[in-house]
Amino acid sequence: MAGFKTHITTSSVLGVAYGAGAYTMYDAHWSTCMLGAGLCGVSGMLPDLDSGPGVPLRESVSFTAAVVPLLLIHRWQRYELTPETMVLAGGLVYLLIRFGMGRLLKSITVHRGMFHSLPALAIVGMLTYLICDHENPWTRVFFATAVMAGFGSHLVLDEIWSIDFRHLRLKSSFGTALKFWGDCWWANLATYANVIVLALMITADPAPLPKMPGMEAEMVAEQPEKSKDTPDRNAWRPRSHSPAPEPIF
Ligand SMILES: [Zn+2]
Repeated sequence: MAGFKTHITTSSVLGVAYGAGAYTMYDAHWSTCMLGAGLCGVSGMLPDLDSGPGVPLRESVSFTAAVVPLLLIHRWQRYELTPETMVLAGGLVYLLIRFGMGRLLKSITVHRGMFHSLPALAIVGMLTYLICDHENPWTRVFFATAVMAGFGSHLVLDEIWSIDFRHLRLKSSFGTALKFWGDCWWANLATYANVIVLALMITADPAPLPKMPGMEAEMVAEQPEKSKDTPDRNAWRPRSHSPAPEPIF
């Protein structure tokens, strides 16, 4: 199987390309692009959270514990929490992830179990969408896609490493990364239950859901209170390279 360095290098390169693509082709703010690139890079080690004690588990849990409270700030602002409450909530989320999630993962996961699967890819994408609350739903889609791209690159690499190119044969690990279900029925059940619950949470989310470009006029009509003085930093419209036309008069 591909090593930790291979995974993190691939997802980081992918993340840089993803962030650079969003910056050069769309009207996205540089900080959004950099955060998307970073999320993609780090997500390349997430599937190996099931590999037991080691660098991927330790680093992923520590990083997630530090970043999730920061990403939740937008959501807490929506709930109008005071700065002090946000600090308390952030500290609590940090402790829960750092110590609770780490212990839980060590005890319930099996290597190449359902953490290496396509429904797990959907789960990390939906979780990111829910955590990264933002007034522009396309920014949330951008971050969720970044995490899914990093996570997905790990699964694809694991499958490529399952091919013995020298003897032109498939190793026994082939098909254990890009899969829809595994051998353990309760793990399958728990994974798909998570997919359903997260999908329901997204549909019930108070923030607007992303709409297709043809429905843009509808989105504007739904948000009349948005002031022209505070334009959205991420318009997510193709960046125009042509100079502005000269005024006729
Ligand atoms: Zn793996």
